[in-house]
Amino acid sequence: MMSLRLPSIDGLLRHPACVPLLERHGREWLLASLRQLLDELRPSVLNGQLSAVEISPEVLAGRVGERLAQQQRSNVRRVFNLTGTVLHTNLGRALLPDEAIDAVQMAARYPLNLEFDLASGKRGDRDDLIEGLIRELTGAEAVTVVNNNAAAVLLTLNSLGARKEGIISRGELIEIGGAFRIPDIMARAGVRLHEVGTTNRTHARDYEAAISPRSGLIMRVHASNYSIEGFTARVPTAELADLAHRHGLPSLEDLGSGSLLDLTRWGLPAEPTVRQALLDGADIVTFSGDKLLGGPQAGLIVGRKELIAKIKKNPLKRALRVDKLTLAALEAVLGLYRDPDRLAERLPSLRLLTRPQADIFIQASRLQPALAEVLGSLWQVSAVDALGMIGSGSQPVARLPSAALCIRPQVSKRLRGRFLLNLEAALRALPIPVLGRIDDDALWLDLRQLDDEPAWLAQLPQLQVEP
Ligand SMILES: *Cc1c(COP(=O)(O)O)cnc(C)c1O
Repeated sequence: MMSLRLPSIDGLLRHPACVPLLERHGREWLLASLRQLLDELRPSVLNGQLSAVEISPEVLAGRVGERLAQQQRSNVRRVFNLTGTVLHTNLGRALLPDEAIDAVQMAARYPLNLEFDLASGKRGDRDDLIEGLIRELTGAEAVTVVNNNAAAVLLTLNSLGARKEGIISRGELIEIGGAFRIPDIMARAGVRLHEVGTTNRTHARDYEAAISPRSGLIMRVHASNYSIEGFTARVPTAELADLAHRHGLPSLEDLGSGSLLDLTRWGLPAEPTVRQALLDGADIVTFSGDKLLGGPQAGLIVGRKELIAKIKKNPLKRALRVDKLTLAALEAVLGLYRDPDRLAERLPSLRLLTRPQADIFIQASRLQPALAEVLGSLWQVSAVDALGMIGSGSQPVARLPSAALCIRPQVSKRLRGRFLLNLEAALRALPIPVLGRIDDDALWLDLRQLDDEPAWLAQLPQLQVEP
């Protein structure tokens, strides 16, 4: 038998099947991909394992085209977050309102007065762009913004407490996820941890007994992602601030999520507001931009003027500063807070958090037949009540009444686990990956956040679950 030969690179490049690829991806990239494919195939060709069709220019062009398309697909992908957790840290937290998206576009496209005072023509300060709004919305004297709340805590601790002791309750030495642990952050900030009280109960006298000439600040951290219940005691912010002030110490409050408005007006669980923490006497309050605030990733530091001035002078501020796109988005989001009556319509995170359960259930009932049909008889699909959560450390125990498509494999108990994992993988493999959660031998798609129903339905026929 005559041995086959691979086509030449030059021949392939000129072949009509490769011309569209050349146009789409450019010569250099196409050439590299063709070379790589030919190198991979050469041994099999020499061994006579491939047919003439398998190494025809058309087939080779097809294979290279698939590879190039795969490589060209962006790594940053949109997904459907049907996990039931609204502010999901791994899925990008808050979604921005149109006003903020427009502002980001403007800031991306044109030069802007990021650090330039248009009134005086002199150099400006990027914090000035949002300081007025934040002061108005929180009652703070002064404001500075950094990259995220972890940075806000680090910068504040380092600016106000370096080489001194930071007094904090044992019940608040928390880990927030990733590698953010309060004791570690304190150490990195150069603050010596002085823990007081016990895990469940800390009293004013515990803080008082810890105060000495070595003290630099008193810190309080909002219990974000856990709750301590039962026999507990915690000193109210006002009392703690009072104590700090009597001893000439600043009191810091890391609110984590924090909220600019009382969420109970929308029927959501109460979350401490920034304004209240300041009214209670906290000197500095730190909170995130992309948690309950519903804006871009940012860390907001608000409070007393002279302390903020000190924080802004810290050279670390420059390393942790916020970028122009974030500032543009943040200003637009904060602007919406001026009209609280319409906030729930305009701010996507609040709109999603306040979606009525009845609406979500109707949506689940509407979508159930389509999903049931695509999945076939091995699966039972039902529209059911479900419980979601806010996420990102807001109200870890509170649940949001929601509704879900609950998908149960109709197979023996032994096989259920594998079936569910395969279903999960198939949903992830869709053009817009769909993320749910497995619980109680079923896969749950919580529909609170399913806004774009047409896109979700349109890709359903492509769902292919391995048996
Ligand atoms: C979430 C959180 C942080 C970290 O905020 P990021 O914006 O994620 O950096 C810090 N402290 C508390 C109490 C939090 O809940």
